[in-house]
Amino acid sequence: MRRTRIVATIGPASESDEVLLDLVKAGVDVFRLSFAHGDIPSGVARLRRVRALAPDLAIMVDIPGPKIRAGSFGTTPVTLTVGDHIELTEGFDKTSTASNIVVERLHVLAQLQVGDKIHIGDGGVSLLVEQPGPKAKAMVTSGGTVMGKPGLSLPSSLVNDRLPTDDDRERLEALRTESFEILAVSFVRSAFDMVSVRTALSRDDVMLMAKIETGEGVENLDEIIAVSDAIMVARGDLGVRMPIEEVPHLQKEIVRHGVRYARPVVVATQMLESMTHSQVPTRAEVTDVANAVLDGASAVMLSGETAIGDDPVATVTTMDRIVRRAEEYFDYEGWGASLGVQQIGAGTRSTRITAAITGAAWRAAMEEKAVAIVACTRSGMTARAISRFRPPMPIVAITPSDATARQLRSSWGVEEIYVSPAQDIDELCEVAITRLKRSGTAKSGDPIVIMAGSASGGAQITDTVRMLIVP
Ligand code: PEP
Repeated sequence: MRRTRIVATIGPASESDEVLLDLVKAGVDVFRLSFAHGDIPSGVARLRRVRALAPDLAIMVDIPGPKIRAGSFGTTPVTLTVGDHIELTEGFDKTSTASNIVVERLHVLAQLQVGDKIHIGDGGVSLLVEQPGPKAKAMVTSGGTVMGKPGLSLPSSLVNDRLPTDDDRERLEALRTESFEILAVSFVRSAFDMVSVRTALSRDDVMLMAKIETGEGVENLDEIIAVSDAIMVARGDLGVRMPIEEVPHLQKEIVRHGVRYARPVVVATQMLESMTHSQVPTRAEVTDVANAVLDGASAVMLSGETAIGDDPVATVTTMDRIVRRAEEYFDYEGWGASLGVQQIGAGTRSTRITAAITGAAWRAAMEEKAVAIVACTRSGMTARAISRFRPPMPIVAITPSDATARQLRSSWGVEEIYVSPAQDIDELCEVAITRLKRSGTAKSGDPIVIMAGSASGGAQITDTVRMLIVP
């Protein structure tokens, strides 16, 4: 089993039933649907179709936050050349061209300063403001091609909307009763942002993923991780808001912090970018994907490669090969040993107990060379908490909740087994042993470590570790 998960963004190139099913076969664990583009009813219709075709995968819905977009450049690439002088105007439902870029936000152009920088898309194309005003003037300082409705990165002092924005709220309202597992929140700057989105969503069956893509997000990383269920290193926007040479180091830091807190951490953007239009990735991209695995990422993500690329399935197959090879090189023992004692939530008694029990289970499994660690888990927390140690043996999560089973598709190395509710700890041990024997993971005489909630503890929290010798 591959242990690092693959997230694929769905778009025009991948939304047909046929491609979606091929992507599942190729090894996608999480489908990401962006609600930044297109109208809400068609987004919801697409979500329902993906759910029907992928009932066992996790679905991540991504809400846009205060992202400002350009009016559409259309479907053929438009070239912006260094030295070109361009006009910027404000408006909606208007087309952008090589000489006039429409900014879909009112009252921002007059607030620009001469010398401000504006980045387009993931930062390849940049402009230098020469004259602010409702018809602002700018010069292209870094050229390239643009198409569709790329994001515009304006100085952050001009965009200080709180989360969720009105657009986000509209999307959350439309998603209130829909089936999905993860809500990715864009441009998170503080714990307060995450708490506000959680309140607006008011669902406890959806994991909240904070996208770290601003300087404030990095500064407030610890408090954001503490109130989030999962984290994304959103390198596209991060790389235009922070000096680009900081991105690899921030990636390592964010992954390590998030995983220590038992949060799944996704590394995203431009991982196999050249495969959008080519059959073969660059050596640098292959190395980037492998390094994300070695950094300890829970998942690696494809964006444009699968949303608008020429061959989404071949891209996933390539990523799968790179990840499997990198996992052979991962230092499992070193990672777990260096993790240290760490709180994994709000520091409540139940999260402290989960941290302690999973720490004990990891040590027992390593010392006795267990063939598997089994986590009986209702919310998924115990499985996520043992996953943070990156143990070399399989992690099996036994859960009475099919929603939890799907959420665990975003966690590193967890194989989910759905069981009907109301089984006691002995019955759960039986289920685990039968499954592990059937799959060939365990044979008679092998040690297995099992974590569960005991009946005397109310079975609400994981309070028991057992070392079982397979009969
Ligand atoms: C990113 O900026 O890296 C990112 C994942 O965000 P989005 O693709 O939603 O712009």
